Amino acid sequence: MKENEIRSFDDLLADVIDAGICSKCGGCVSVCSANMIGALKLDKNGFPTYTDKELCLACGLCHMICPHTHTVREEVKSRFDWKPPVGHYTNVISAKTTDPDVVEVATDGGVVTSLLIHMLEAGHIDGAVVSTSEDGYTRQAVVATSREQILQAAGSHFGELPHLEEVGEKYANYVSVVKFSCKDNTKKLKRLAVVGTPCQITSIRNMQALAIVPSDIITFTVGLFCMQCFEMSNLMDKEFIRRRHINPDDIATMNIKEDFILTLKSGITVHIPMKEIEEVARPACLKCDYFANDFADISVGGLGSPEKHTTVMIRTLRGRMMIADALAKKSIKMRESRSADEQRVYKHGMISLIEEYAARKEARARIYRDGSR
Ligand SMILES: Cc1cc2nc3c(=O)[nH]c(=O)nc-3n(C[C@H](O)[C@H](O)[C@H](O)COP(=O)(O)OP(=O)(O)OC[C@H]3O[C@@H](n4cnc5c(N)ncnc54)[C@H](O)[C@@H]3O)c2cc1C
Ligand code: SF4
Ligand code: SF4
Ligand code: SF4
Repeated sequence: MKENEIRSFDDLLADVIDAGICSKCGGCVSVCSANMIGALKLDKNGFPTYTDKELCLACGLCHMICPHTHTVREEVKSRFDWKPPVGHYTNVISAKTTDPDVVEVATDGGVVTSLLIHMLEAGHIDGAVVSTSEDGYTRQAVVATSREQILQAAGSHFGELPHLEEVGEKYANYVSVVKFSCKDNTKKLKRLAVVGTPCQITSIRNMQALAIVPSDIITFTVGLFCMQCFEMSNLMDKEFIRRRHINPDDIATMNIKEDFILTLKSGITVHIPMKEIEEVARPACLKCDYFANDFADISVGGLGSPEKHTTVMIRTLRGRMMIADALAKKSIKMRESRSADEQRVYKHGMISLIEEYAARKEARARIYRDGSR
């Protein structure tokens, strides 16, 4: 294929899906349906597939926005003033929520939930694409438009979520009210925040670089650090948990920070090294080298922060403004420290860890992509 030749979904199939690196972000389906072409859908396993090949215009948009084709990578890097090793940022802080309701349900410090609630109530956004769980193991992407809905979505789930598909559906429904019971509510959704893994946020940034709908309504991105995702069925079925003498029913919460942490209902925490959870990771995640969510407005994780705190990497002007506003309104507060020097030590510790994990992930991706694993 020549350098500037437009790729179609057939090329995406060959380059990404058949190559085993599709992270099921849903971006390609979202773009195709938001542009009213509708040639794609997600199959029952969450992979994109043709609805009807005849509908494909070979416009190449799906291939261009895919986070794993890197077609517009240089453009996105330049927009975000990207620098190695973990992209541009202006500050890294450790913070936590001040809201007792958020403390109850948050994964780490509850900064994400409190920031989203703050942004919604201050009128900075009309809603936030987050994920909720009804059964504790599977989650659904939803557009939360109230404090209650954002609260309900708090906590992390390390499964797979086609967030962008959800955004695309909402956007398409905004123009076609068929599936919507509340037309007026949809009309207000012009400024959305999205919480997503690096592949999802990169997909959004690729769309924005190309000025493709529905990315125009996404005005704020919260990027999760991401070592890997796994399918919950693998985690529970593969003897992985039982080998550690844990009854799956006893698990209260899961989290990833420096390692994989299971908290049992008895209050006991079990730490499993990152290397050991590779066996239940999605194969595509092991070939992925995105860790620090380099193109988000803020990137967040537990890495480098103490219990009940969130590490926040502030990247864009908008990210800086929203965090400053949330701090000023006391929705969140910084980790306490005895002096400015101590604060600096915390900051450098967090940066070192983020860089270390980003490097570890890149090295792992090289090994798995080379086929030596
Ligand atoms: C798949 C995944 C992998 C992660 N890997 C790491 C890691 O390797 N290292 C690390 O330090 N941190 C990792 N994190 C981030 C960490 O678990 C916390 O989400 C983060 O520290 C924010 O904590 P919080 O208390 O501020 O968030 P909360 O206030 O609890 O809010 C979390 C938000 O994330 C949303 N969310 C939950 N699951 C998903 C999902 N699958 N996709 C998109 N949004 C989701 C929730 O709806 C909620 O809005 C990961 C998170 C996820 C979801
Ligand atoms: S119409 Fe365009 S976006 Fe849709 S599948 Fe074909 S090439 Fe991809
Ligand atoms: S855009 Fe997302 S869902 Fe589509 S092929 Fe790429 S990674 Fe897979
Ligand atoms: S490791 Fe994270 S960023 Fe990479 S493909 Fe998996 S979910 Fe996406």
